[in-house]
Amino acid sequence: MDSYYTATAKSKVIYDKLQSDIDTDICIIGGGFTGISSALHLVNLGYKVVVLEANQPGYGASGRNGGHVGIGQRVDQFYLEKKFGWHKAKTLWDMSIEAVDTVKNLINEHSIECNLKHGDIHFAHKKSLCSDLQEEVEHLNKHYNFSGTYIERDCLQDYIGTDVFYGGVIENHSCHLHPLKYLQGLTLAATKAGVKVYGESLVSEYNSSPTLVKTEFGSVRCDHLIIACNGYIKNLEPKINGYIMPINNFVIATERLDEKLAKTIIPLDTSMSDTRFVINYWKLSGDNRLIFGGGENYTKRFPKDIKRFVQRYMLKIYPQLATVAVEYGWGGTLAITLNRLPHFGCLSNNVWFMQGYSGHGIAASTLAGKLVSEAISGDPSRFNVISGLPTLKFPGGTLLRWPGMVAGMLYYTLRDRF
Ligand SMILES: Cc1cc2nc3c(=O)[nH]c(=O)nc-3n(C[C@H](O)[C@H](O)[C@H](O)COP(=O)(O)OP(=O)(O)OC[C@H]3O[C@@H](n4cnc5c(N)ncnc54)[C@H](O)[C@@H]3O)c2cc1C
Repeated sequence: MDSYYTATAKSKVIYDKLQSDIDTDICIIGGGFTGISSALHLVNLGYKVVVLEANQPGYGASGRNGGHVGIGQRVDQFYLEKKFGWHKAKTLWDMSIEAVDTVKNLINEHSIECNLKHGDIHFAHKKSLCSDLQEEVEHLNKHYNFSGTYIERDCLQDYIGTDVFYGGVIENHSCHLHPLKYLQGLTLAATKAGVKVYGESLVSEYNSSPTLVKTEFGSVRCDHLIIACNGYIKNLEPKINGYIMPINNFVIATERLDEKLAKTIIPLDTSMSDTRFVINYWKLSGDNRLIFGGGENYTKRFPKDIKRFVQRYMLKIYPQLATVAVEYGWGGTLAITLNRLPHFGCLSNNVWFMQGYSGHGIAASTLAGKLVSEAISGDPSRFNVISGLPTLKFPGGTLLRWPGMVAGMLYYTLRDRF
């Protein structure tokens, strides 16, 4: 993958493939944030842990994303309150704050150098959305531990170098980072604590009781299995993959911007995003490149020219960057659920899964690892808060979910334009 992240991540560690039959307490399939955070939390509780990754850790969405570590769930608190009542909505909010704090604490505890910066601004791309945004901030400030500020259109020039937006919300609890450096730092911390990580070890199948996980050249017998494959799961476990829909999303990185230009487009060095259904999200990297994510597709292939595909979204916001070179363009696959809430659960008492973060997964998947470690070590109460959320299968199953979903997505994409 020719991404800015792979070009600039420091670790050159290659994890060897599994080539024997081994026993362990916990086996984890998938070396993204979900898998590695689970491994780290479980090894710290005294378990023997093995991670099997089909490629190398960070190959999936965890090593390709926008790097925005945002508070809140993927859906807003009004929706959660209406759907589940105040108490559950507040619990989900608190967990989202804990998720971001867990990321920050892990970075701190393991001295992970990953260009961590603070603050986020969310912009209204239509005038008609400003009152909703303003109402939401007031509600969050009053009823939740949130301290955001609504920015009127007249003041936006202090926060962003464009006049295409109508209002915005700034808050400083969210942060942003270089996701592959963060993932590699977590993986290193996990291996130092005793986790065995195997790369190039695609799991072809597993059997329950006794739980035996098979790869081409080896196998793992374990007491507990965690499936942490998210959008890359394919047909590994048909009982869960019908609840998620894999979606491709794309990111570019420009050449380095000079300090003055960087300061004019993102004066406070925050992460930024807008209210579009197919969201645009952007930020400055540690070396002052604009990392811009926008556009998605619902086919099995990525666009041929990702740089151009995403650049047009960037230029709609920052036309002044027309002559700035785009040096990297890449894509990744995330998993969305129908209601955009994460999908966690347990099959046959010892096969755990966490997936479906719906594009809001850096913090949530890090927390998922903590929650599953609590559950496996005897207290499933917090894991059950998420696993108890209602989830629906995509209509049409894994084959026929595509046409309905694509039609729905295109409808909302068109609505973004008017
Ligand atoms: C382009 C893009 C931008 C995004 N931007 C943001 C953002 O800014 N902020 C945010 O919070 N979230 C963002 N997300 C979402 C976020 O990246 C994900 O929610 C999160 O990384 C999910 O982590 P994960 O560990 O569950 O899955 P992944 O990181 O996808 O890891 C799954 C791993 O499982 C492995 N695997 C699959 N099948 C097997 C098998 N059979 N055997 C062995 N290994 C297997 C894969 O190789 C992969 O490495 C974005 C996602 C994408 C794609």
